[in-house]
Amino acid sequence: MEPFSCTVLVLGGGPSGYVCAIRAGQLGLDTVLVESGKLGGTCLNVGCIPSKAIIHAAEEFATAKRFSAGNAIGIRAADPSIDLAATMAWKDGIVARLNGGVFGLLRRAKVKVVNGTGYLRDGKTCVVESDTGRQEITAAHIVIATGSEAVALPNLPFGGPVISSTEALSLDSVPQRLAVIGGGYIGLELGIAFRKLGSEVTIIEAQDRLLPHYDAELTRPVASRMRKLGITVHLKAKALGLHAAGDTLKIGLEDGSEQRVPADKFLVTVGRRPRTSGFGLEELDLTMNGRAIEIDDQCRTSMRNVWAVGDVTGEPMLEHRAVAQGEMVAEIIAGEKRSFDHVAVPAVCFTDPEIATAGLSPQEARDAGHAIKVGQFPFTANGRAMTLEAEDGFVRIVARADNHVILGIQAVGHGVSELSGSFALALEMGARLEDVAATIHVHPTLSECVREAALAALGHALHA
Ligand code: FAD
Repeated sequence: MEPFSCTVLVLGGGPSGYVCAIRAGQLGLDTVLVESGKLGGTCLNVGCIPSKAIIHAAEEFATAKRFSAGNAIGIRAADPSIDLAATMAWKDGIVARLNGGVFGLLRRAKVKVVNGTGYLRDGKTCVVESDTGRQEITAAHIVIATGSEAVALPNLPFGGPVISSTEALSLDSVPQRLAVIGGGYIGLELGIAFRKLGSEVTIIEAQDRLLPHYDAELTRPVASRMRKLGITVHLKAKALGLHAAGDTLKIGLEDGSEQRVPADKFLVTVGRRPRTSGFGLEELDLTMNGRAIEIDDQCRTSMRNVWAVGDVTGEPMLEHRAVAQGEMVAEIIAGEKRSFDHVAVPAVCFTDPEIATAGLSPQEARDAGHAIKVGQFPFTANGRAMTLEAEDGFVRIVARADNHVILGIQAVGHGVSELSGSFALALEMGARLEDVAATIHVHPTLSECVREAALAALGHALHA
C-alpha cells in the first residue's frame, strides 16, 4: 500500500486514543487512528462497561431472589433463575452499540481509522500490519495510547481454569465455585457480582485488608456486606499454584501453613501494567518511569512531538484520566495552552456498597501537613437512603481548618458513584465548606448528605 502522511497519528483506539483523535479531528488536524482490535479499548470492550453491565445484572438477580425469599417491602415473587449466556448477549449488545457510536464519532470528526497492529519505526513513522497488507504512515505528531494489560502471576499463568477479568466477563455459565486472587477493585467488583449470581466465592488477598488503596474506614462497610453475602476472605494469603488436577489452589497463610481452595475458575486480578511491548517502543529513545512511559504535565514524552496518554503512562489507570489526557494533547497540538493541572482524579469502586473518592483523605491531608476539619454524615440519617433500603455508609468532607477550602470528599454507600461528579466539581472550583453548605441540595436525595457533611465540618449538622 502507498505510504501516506498525516499531522497526528494516534496509536491505540481505547478511551485515551479515540478521544484524542476525535478532538484532533474536531480541531481540523489531519488525524489517523491505528487500532488492532475493537474501538473503545479495554474500557468499552472488556473493562468498565462490561463489568458494570454484569454488576447490574447480578444486582437485579439478587433483588429478585430477595423478593422470592420474602422481604419487608412486601413484594413476593416466584423462584428466579438466570441464563448467563443471555446476560452476556445483552452485555455484548451494549458494547456493540458503543463500538458503533465511537466509530460514528470518529467518522464525523473526519479521523481516518486504520485497522491493524502499529509498529513505531521511529518517532515519526508507524508501520501498520493488517490482513490486507502493510501500510507506512508518517506523522508530525505521534500519540502513544496503547493502554494496559492484566498482570499474570508466574505460579498461576492464564489459561484453562485460570482466567483474567476479560474471560470472567464472557463466561457463559456461572461457575459453582470461584476463587479470586487479588482483593483490589476489579477483583471485588467481579467477586461480589459472581456471588450474587450464585457462585461460592473465595477472595485471596496478600495484604492485611481488602481494597488496600482505600482508607480503612471506607472499606469497612464493603467488608461487612461481603460477610453478609457469604464471601470467604483470606487476608495475608498468597496464591502458591494449582494442584495437578487443576481444580484446587494452594495458598500460603501468614503463619506459614498452607490451605487448599477448591474452585472451578481462578480469577487473577492482581493488577494491570502499561502495555509497552509489541509496538516498537525499543526503537524510540523514551525515558521510562518504571514500566510506564514518563510524561510531563502536558503528556509530552522525552522525544519531541511524541506524546503518551492513558494507562501506558501508569497510575491512576482510570478511563476518565485517560480521556482527559487524550483531549488535552489534541488541544495542545492544535496550539491551545493546556496542562494537566487537575486538583483531583476522582475514583469509584463499584462494589456493594460503592466507594467514591476525590482528593485527600483525612490521613493524606494530615500527611501533607494540613491542619484539617472533617465532617461526616451517615446515610442512616437520610430519608432517601431509608426509602432505598440503603442505610449503610456515609459521606465525609475534609477541609483546611484555617480557610475551610475543601481538600477531599469521600463516600461509601449505595449509588454514591453518581455523587462523585459533585465531589470533583467542588474540588476543581476550589469550594469552601460554606459553599457546599450554602448550596440547596434536592430533597429527598442522597446528595443531601454532602451538604450535611459540610455542615458537620462547620459544627452544625442539621439532621444528626
Ligand atoms: P486501553 O483502553 O487499554 O486501550 C488501548 C488500545 O490500544 C487497545 O484497544 C489496544 O488494542 C490498542 N493497541 C495496543 N497496542 C496496539 C498496537 N501496537 N497497534 C494498534 N493498536 C494497539 N476505569 C474506570 O475509570 N472506571 C471503571 O469502572 C473501570 N473498570 C474497569 C474494569 C475492568 C475489568 C478493567 C480491566 C479496567 C477497568 N477500568 C476502569 C480501567 C479502564 O478500562 C482503563 O483505564 C482505560 O481503558 C484506559 O484507556 P487507554 O486508552 O489508556 O487504554
